[in-house]
Amino acid sequence: MSAETKRPGRVNAAEKAKRLLTSGRLRVLQVEGNLIVAECRGDSGEVYQLGYQPDFERWGCTCPARTACSHMQALWSVTAVER
Ligand SMILES: [Zn+2]
Repeated sequence: MSAETKRPGRVNAAEKAKRLLTSGRLRVLQVEGNLIVAECRGDSGEVYQLGYQPDFERWGCTCPARTACSHMQALWSVTAVER
């Protein structure tokens, strides 16, 4: 028996990000300098807007998650911001 505990219903955000990428649900719409605009379709079909705002130096996503969500993690793995 494995000592590893699995919590059903709670999927690791990094794992979910990988799944979003491999199923083609992230669309990068615009990259202009450090401005990044993208959209991502969530599990229940709604589309979230996300990206990086260089004026505010912040990443954002319109989904209800307050922490670094899987959508943003998916975007981070395909984009880079110059610092
Ligand atoms: Zn999100």
